[in-house]
Order: sequence, then C-alpha cells, then structure tokens
Amino acid sequence: MSRRPFIAGNWKMNLDLASARALIADIRARIAGQPPIDIAVCPPSIYFFPTAKALADSPIAMGAQNCHHEKAAFTGEVSPAMVRRRAASMSSLAIERRHTIGPKDAAGHVHGESDEMVALKVRAVLDAGLVPIVCVGETLDERDANKTEAVLTRQIHGSLAGLDSAAAAQLVVAYEPVWAIGTGRNATPQQAQDAHAHIRNVLAEKFGRSIADGIRIQYGGSVKPDNALTLLSCPDVDGALVGGASLKAGDFVAIIEAGIKAKS
Ligand code: PEP
Repeated sequence: MSRRPFIAGNWKMNLDLASARALIADIRARIAGQPPIDIAVCPPSIYFFPTAKALADSPIAMGAQNCHHEKAAFTGEVSPAMVRRRAASMSSLAIERRHTIGPKDAAGHVHGESDEMVALKVRAVLDAGLVPIVCVGETLDERDANKTEAVLTRQIHGSLAGLDSAAAAQLVVAYEPVWAIGTGRNATPQQAQDAHAHIRNVLAEKFGRSIADGIRIQYGGSVKPDNALTLLSCPDVDGALVGGASLKAGDFVAIIEAGIKAKS
C-alpha cells in the first residue's frame, strides 16, 4: 500500500517570533508548488496565531507540540479545541514528555507521561478533529537489554487503548528512540526498519492488516539532511519527525526533498 510521506518539524522551545516568521518565509520560498508529501511545523503554543498566519495558503500544515486531554480549565494548559481554532491540523504527543518532563526517582529516571495519559490525549485530539502523532520509543537501557520490541508493543497497546479501527485509521505514529532524540546519534536504517515493521505488526494485530498498512509511521531522532534519504528509503519508514534540523530552512527542505526522492 502506498502511504503519503509526512515530514513534520518540532520546534520545541526554540526560535523567537521574528526568527519563526523568517524560517517559515524561507521554507515557503524553497518549496515549489504542491509537493507530493505532507509537511507540518509544530510551534510552541504561544506562536500558534502568527504561525498560522505565516503559513496561510501554503502546503504546510501546523501542529501543536502537545495539548491537555480535558476541555475544562487547567492552569497553563491548552485544549485540543483551542489548538483546532488556531488552524492546527495535528498534535504531536512527543516521546520526550514521557522521559524528560516529570519528577525524577532516586535512580535519576524521569517519570513523565504514562501510556494511560497518552491514550487520554489521543482520544481528545481525535474527538477535536485533529490528527495525533503518537510517539513511542525505547530508552538506551531498554535497547541494550533487548527490550525494544516489548517496550514498543506495550506503548502501542497502552497509548491506543480503547480505539476502534476507524479511529486508528486517522493516526500517525512516530518511532522516536529516546537515545536518538537531540543526541546526533540516529538509529541505523536497519534499526529503524526493524522497529517500524514491528510497530506495524502490532497495529495489524490490534486493528487489522489493512488499517495498519495505511497508518503512517514517522521516524524521529537526529534526522539530518545527510541521513534522511537512507532512513526514508526504508519500506516502513513513512516520514520523519524532525527536531533540531527543522530550525534551519535549508536542512528542513533538504529532508523534505529526501522524502520525495525516497518514495517516488
Ligand atoms: C524531536 O524533537 O522530536 C526530535 C526528533 O529531535 P531531533 O531531531 O533534534 O533529534
């Protein structure tokens, strides 16, 4: 089955407003026409409005980096409906919220968002008519202990608990090995392909093969112009979730071009 490639940039807390506007203008100038690929940028929520304005009439969608699952008032949080009202089309539920944002235990392990919390957000994001990018991935300790597949299986089942096949068909999944995020150390194409194929098999057990074959699975973790083509050429790698390299127009567009080349 052919899946439309999808490259998304996660800006995290980077860029001031003038730089964000300049980055969008530069990306737009470098992208000709309507590329055969989906593209999105995910600004910090305080930049939703100017980002949506700067992206108007472009082939680039806007996503949120996160949102709360509740509609009610929670201090400092942003609801899926608020994201939606700012012309966003997706919400990325980034892996680092599981492993870097939250209290630390005595061993220094961060206890961030659980699979249960991610599952609540996935449903809320879908209910708001947005596309969730559901991030899964193992830590280095888990990989070294040969637990990668078990961790991915648990995260997929936990994060997508209670979804039916019709809802699952709307999802994007991102494989983000924690050890590759912001480290400059990307997964090898074989590691990425093996993990993506495993994720797709788990999705097939849960939702049926034809639904699983239609779900896009992005790779995220130190994607750069020089490794994008080999990673994106893997049969089960359907795009990239890009952090650092999405902050430079030349690098981001080079990754988009690698995606187009890999899948054409
Ligand atoms: C990310 O922020 O999701 C990410 C993958 O970061 P980087 O590309 O910098 O590793």
